[in-house]
Amino acid sequence: MTTNEENTNSPSLDRRDFITASVGAALLVAMGGFPASVRAAAALALPPLPYPDNALEPVISANTIGFHHGKHHKTYFDNLNKLVTGTEFADMSIENIILASAGRPEQMAIFNNAAQAWNHTFYWRSLKKGGGGEPPAALRQRIDASFGSLDACRKELATAATTQFGSGWAWLVLDGDKLKVVKTGNAELPLTQGMKPLLTIDVWEHAYYLDYQNRRADYVNAVLDKLINWGFAADNLGT
Ligand code: FE
Repeated sequence: MTTNEENTNSPSLDRRDFITASVGAALLVAMGGFPASVRAAAALALPPLPYPDNALEPVISANTIGFHHGKHHKTYFDNLNKLVTGTEFADMSIENIILASAGRPEQMAIFNNAAQAWNHTFYWRSLKKGGGGEPPAALRQRIDASFGSLDACRKELATAATTQFGSGWAWLVLDGDKLKVVKTGNAELPLTQGMKPLLTIDVWEHAYYLDYQNRRADYVNAVLDKLINWGFAADNLGT
């Protein structure tokens, strides 16, 4: 049920704006604060879920999580390992593979699988049982300063997630000193734009179709109400 249809990305995320390698390197340094569980993906091995596969029920079923992690996410890692064998990417961390392959049409398969492998590891940690609710105080202050209110931030995330045309992702990011919501198509991600991801919502159909069929908005709103992990975003922000 995955799709690869054409999509309309946010204009701000056009490949024309791809950052230079030096900016990418600086971003990787800035990402030193990421949890070890995310950095572990650098070994190009599928990380285990940070919770049992039924932990997110009833919002996301164990059946969906089982396929999503055990089949879709695993396949991105399996493909990536095959694709990088014997190439310039073979000994790179997953983040460096993403930055080194981005914007190179001849490396699109490597970029897509590396980015999707990374995005999903980040997505699992963007959710938790008993999520939603109030962000930690320091993050809440940054949200209020950037969006005006938590409700406005939440609405922007919901709008980005429901209006992304076709497959993709909605993200809360740090861009400069401001928090922003962006959406990306297919495997694209804010790392290649010099923005620091704080949390994400997967809006590929495989993320919700078994549980919600075509009702993407119901999935997105339930995730924001009950699963979104503001603490993970606060950790990534370094607050
Ligand atoms: Fe997915």
